[in-house]
Amino acid sequence: MKYLIVGAVAGGASTAARLRRMDEHATIIIFEKGEYISYANCGLPYYIGDVIKDRNKLFVQTATSFNARFNIDVRVNTEVMSIDPVKKTITAFKQSTGETYEESYDKLVLSPGAEPLRPPLPGINTEGIFTLRNVNDTDYIKAYVQQRHIKKAVVIGAGFIGLEMAENFHDLGLDVTIVEMSNQLLGPVDFPVAAIVQQHIRSKSVHLKLSTAVTGFTKNGGQIEVVLNNGETVTADMVILSIGVKPDTRLAVQAGLKTGTARGIWVNEYLQTSDPDIYAVGDAIEFENPITGQSMITYLAGPANKQGRICANNIVLGNVQKYQGSINTAIVKVFDMTLGTAGTASKHLKAANIGHIVSTTHNGSHAAYYPGAKQMSVQIAFSPKDGRLLSAQIAGYDGVDKRLDILSSYIKQQKTIYDLIEFEHAYAPPYSSAKDPVNMAGFVAENILLDRLRVFYWNETNNIKPDDILIDVRRSDEFSKGKIPGAINIPLDEIRNRLQEIPTTKTIYIYCEAGLRGYLAQRILRQNGFENVLNLSGGYYLWNACTQEMG
Ligand code: FAD
Repeated sequence: MKYLIVGAVAGGASTAARLRRMDEHATIIIFEKGEYISYANCGLPYYIGDVIKDRNKLFVQTATSFNARFNIDVRVNTEVMSIDPVKKTITAFKQSTGETYEESYDKLVLSPGAEPLRPPLPGINTEGIFTLRNVNDTDYIKAYVQQRHIKKAVVIGAGFIGLEMAENFHDLGLDVTIVEMSNQLLGPVDFPVAAIVQQHIRSKSVHLKLSTAVTGFTKNGGQIEVVLNNGETVTADMVILSIGVKPDTRLAVQAGLKTGTARGIWVNEYLQTSDPDIYAVGDAIEFENPITGQSMITYLAGPANKQGRICANNIVLGNVQKYQGSINTAIVKVFDMTLGTAGTASKHLKAANIGHIVSTTHNGSHAAYYPGAKQMSVQIAFSPKDGRLLSAQIAGYDGVDKRLDILSSYIKQQKTIYDLIEFEHAYAPPYSSAKDPVNMAGFVAENILLDRLRVFYWNETNNIKPDDILIDVRRSDEFSKGKIPGAINIPLDEIRNRLQEIPTTKTIYIYCEAGLRGYLAQRILRQNGFENVLNLSGGYYLWNACTQEMG
């Protein structure tokens, strides 16, 4: 058999290596239009930021080592220009010689990845405006920062790469401005979780301009004026454009392969395109989101690598393994914080008309009495019908990755919030609490589902009518430092003795700092004849972060 692969990084290299493990005697040729193969895309921002000091560490394999280990013919600096699906050939262009030649295949795999968006804004081609996709981009950016003694950078787009670049530039001592068109960072997460992280970014003296679009660039001596839609300009020495990517479907479209509603290459559950002899993996493909049932693209390394393995198995063994889809589990370090997400955010569930309940809990990363415990905010969304877990988002410091991976696997396995309650974890004070934040998220969700806890949300405080009562059950010293307008203060420990101050017939809104004391107050009130009592999900902490971020 003769297998050809287009693209030699995450999906392509994984497919090639697995093909060889499955078929020692096949001819395998992998084409890569760039100079490097199988490198660590995900490490590029950290190399620019000098966290990774040795450039060689970025290269998982070289063409020579890959050939030696896997007996794969690696053709770098060679672009596949077209596919003839009838003749089962590709046409390749070898950049070093200018030679164009054909190569035949029995099976072809496409893993061309995604391209950074570069909108045709005025001045977009000004020197010093970069996108970051590959090693060459990285080398240009790193050299530019060092040789030009860059002091000010603007990062356009607050997605994963934009945030990583902002942090790395900041740690290099640059003055950094992030400009983002949306009213929040990281589109895949919900506003409240983003708000917590935005506050952290601002605390690092990074300028964060949300709800702001860039309309163009002008050169001003050695600097770039970044023109914004609010009339302002930001002067910078360089600009990183990280406003998103689009699947590279050029070859697929030219070959007449089917593309889907998300504009990626359509594949079936075996990762086979509309041509049975052509498979595709990675950032360029689309498939069904296991939660919404809608077509989606995942721009993540984990899915690309895992798809490579499945695709190779299916090619050699004949469509034996189905790809289960991805729930977009992703994580990013944002200075001292970590932000993670898995599943479908509440805003996207709403857009897909999927009924759900949201609950936010704040707990320590480990036992409060053991040094170094830090607060972790966990937001989950679950079905009101059966408690099926639909998404989880976490913002915190330590242990976010561990909890996210647990919640992600529960979401993927279609588990419910009742499974979170049963979740058994390894506990000692340096690692967790006797009830882990995952358990706590489950307990609170169960209370909501069983109507032991009724909640309202940070963006519903404006709905509180003059006739209703808003009670802050924190201590008076906490209350005096900041409160939700209109609240009266009855600390939790006094509430049993002050019931007569609260009219039984009114709707009572309660809040505390994180949600726990409010829940306890609600239990006391409801068991003393107060019918309409609601507790603020996520507490004052979340309300405060969200209202500050709303401006
Ligand atoms: P790629 O890995 O991009 O490989 C595609 C390759 O195909 C490219 O090298 C391209 O040159 C080549 N190619 C395209 N067309 C042709 C052609 N016609 N002929 C020959 N070669 C061709 N994901 C995470 O999960 N976590 C992270 O922390 C993370 N960080 C990232 C940081 C950066 C800076 C970048 C750019 C991406 C990051 N990603 C991260 C995303 C992850 O790298 C991608 O999802 C993954 O690499 C996709 O794999 P792929 O094989 O589809 O595409």
